Amino acid sequence: MPQISSDDLPPFATASEERFALAVRGTNDGIWDWDIRSGEVFFSPRWKDMIGYEDHELANEFSTFETRVHPEDHDRVMKTVNDYLYGSLDRYAVEFRFQHKDGSWRWILARGRALRDAEGKPYRMAGSHTDITEQKLSEEQLRHARLAAEAANRAKSAFLANMSHEIRTPMNGIIGMGELLLNTKLDPKQHEYLLMLKNSAESLLALLNDVLDFSKIEAGKMELDEQDFDLRHTIADTLLALGVRAMQKNLTLTHKVTEDVPVILLGDDGRLRQILINLVGNAIKFTDRGEIIVRVRIESRALDKTTLHFEIHDTGIGISPEVQGRIFDAFTQAETNTNRRYGGTGLGLAICRDLVELMQGRIWVESEPGKGSTFHFTAVFGEATQDSLDKPSAPATGPLLGLAEKSMKVLVVEDGRVNQLVAAKLLEERGHRVEIANNGQEAVEKVRDGDFDAILMDVHMPEMNGFQATSAIRQIEEKHGGHVPIIAMTANALKGDREQCIAAGMDDYVSKPIHSAELLHAVERFMHGRTAAPPRLEITGTPAEAAKPKKRGPAFKADVFVAAAGGPEMAKELIAIYAEDSDKFLQDASAALSAGNAVALYEAAHSLKGMLGVYTATRASETASHLCHLAQDGDLFGARALLEKLKKECARLGTALANVDLSSSSD
Ligand code: ADP
Repeated sequence: MPQISSDDLPPFATASEERFALAVRGTNDGIWDWDIRSGEVFFSPRWKDMIGYEDHELANEFSTFETRVHPEDHDRVMKTVNDYLYGSLDRYAVEFRFQHKDGSWRWILARGRALRDAEGKPYRMAGSHTDITEQKLSEEQLRHARLAAEAANRAKSAFLANMSHEIRTPMNGIIGMGELLLNTKLDPKQHEYLLMLKNSAESLLALLNDVLDFSKIEAGKMELDEQDFDLRHTIADTLLALGVRAMQKNLTLTHKVTEDVPVILLGDDGRLRQILINLVGNAIKFTDRGEIIVRVRIESRALDKTTLHFEIHDTGIGISPEVQGRIFDAFTQAETNTNRRYGGTGLGLAICRDLVELMQGRIWVESEPGKGSTFHFTAVFGEATQDSLDKPSAPATGPLLGLAEKSMKVLVVEDGRVNQLVAAKLLEERGHRVEIANNGQEAVEKVRDGDFDAILMDVHMPEMNGFQATSAIRQIEEKHGGHVPIIAMTANALKGDREQCIAAGMDDYVSKPIHSAELLHAVERFMHGRTAAPPRLEITGTPAEAAKPKKRGPAFKADVFVAAAGGPEMAKELIAIYAEDSDKFLQDASAALSAGNAVALYEAAHSLKGMLGVYTATRASETASHLCHLAQDGDLFGARALLEKLKKECARLGTALANVDLSSSSD
């Protein structure tokens, strides 16, 4: 038992004070006891020792304390004493700097209590001094470290955002050039390699977009872009794209949206797609057999808000309980070897969590290792504006849900396996029967003995291409009667292609990559025979004819552009770079014309076409497309006049862009 020396006690100590002193000694604190009426203060030897003094060196009076408090802390400390004794404070505890004998400053925590007379007037106050210098120092160091880490994190996010943004530009160049190359004459090996190159470039771009999204969210720069959308359509469309991957792994992928979920909702369907692609993509990635089910139901409904509950269930490898809590953090993967086995960055779920939070929802997972996982998330959507409710349901919504009115027998002629799968799955889900032909030759043979309601025909195929196959089919029909509708699937929307499609005897065309609604629409148009529906495709005539204004697309519309850009922020960036890019390509085109270089002219015009498309400048983009066509034909004379026109259209677009008002849609 520690001994209490009488030094530690004030001269007027009682038994309970002895106990107090004993406790205080154990803590290495100094004690003080102030007789307020006499002004006399007892400072224990430890109190004095803390600031480097022997007991006899300091007088037992209040000024011994007061004069040693740091000038910057003095008034605050005195006010605290006063407020405790005579004012509102019911606790006395204050931190301040206190001067040591050697001149240095120590941090002290002073605590104490007052004794009061019957009227509540304090007559005595006693307490302790604790030296908290070390603690203060480490707090300060921690604070510094935290600030530095935060600054570094912000710098990292900004760096990531900038880098990924910068890398996207050349990536788009690589992908665009790959597309151009794919349109040239290549032998099958070159074609295959180029496709692989393009695929890699596209997955790299997807990764970059992830990094950009994530850093944008971290930097607090992500905003939702809300508009009316058809939830069932969004889900069906998203799952369709993923369906190919599921099919390749022999997994069933189904979805169910309960009937009470409104058809049209107000929200950011692009971001919702992104969440679904991530979660369903993961489910496919981590499941080797069984099924993936996506369910949507109403969680709650308030005035004009609907909270939906989404569930993505898989029968995959599952996630252990320890890991479940971490997987929504950035760069986290369940096992260190996950990356080697399955790839991925560990960013997907972090982005999902942030997006879900932006949608005022939450995300969680239930999982049993070896059995499977169910990811849940909720999100709040608004009520559709009356405007879009009045509209007859968009054709895109109809064909995708449930079965078609009548089952059709459709021949899909396509050499690409992925496109075969996409088209076939899409049609089969609607209840159509599908046969596949791998090239034109096979198609002709199948048509000879089959009775098809429609043919989906890829244009570019080895051996016998789509045009040749169509001609051959039409020749057979001339002899034997009949006319099976042929719908071309074409990757480039060059006018030459369309003309050729019609010239070859095709009835319609859809553009690749295949858009589900467009494809079903094109096929089902012929459900009740060929004549029932008017041809959707208007043939674009010769370039001179095409230039006539009657068939021109709509002029630039600011709201369409902002929506297509994915929001005001991106729109702003696009507007900022417009002049530079359009000038560059127009100059390239001029230079190519002067040099008489049709290939270079084609390339410049093609780049312009793509670029103008991004600005939803349909008219100008059509002119550029027309220019591509002339360049392809080697008609440099006609091209000269068209380029002048395109320059004017680009200048007009420049003015229109400069006048786009982004304030209404931004915050
Ligand atoms: P990644 O790009 O690595 O897939 P995510 O953030 O999407 O990143 O996922 C993080 C980790 O969570 C994955 O690496 C995986 O370990 C685990 N995970 C996610 N979804 C599933 C799932 N459906 N089944 C099993 N594990 C999953």
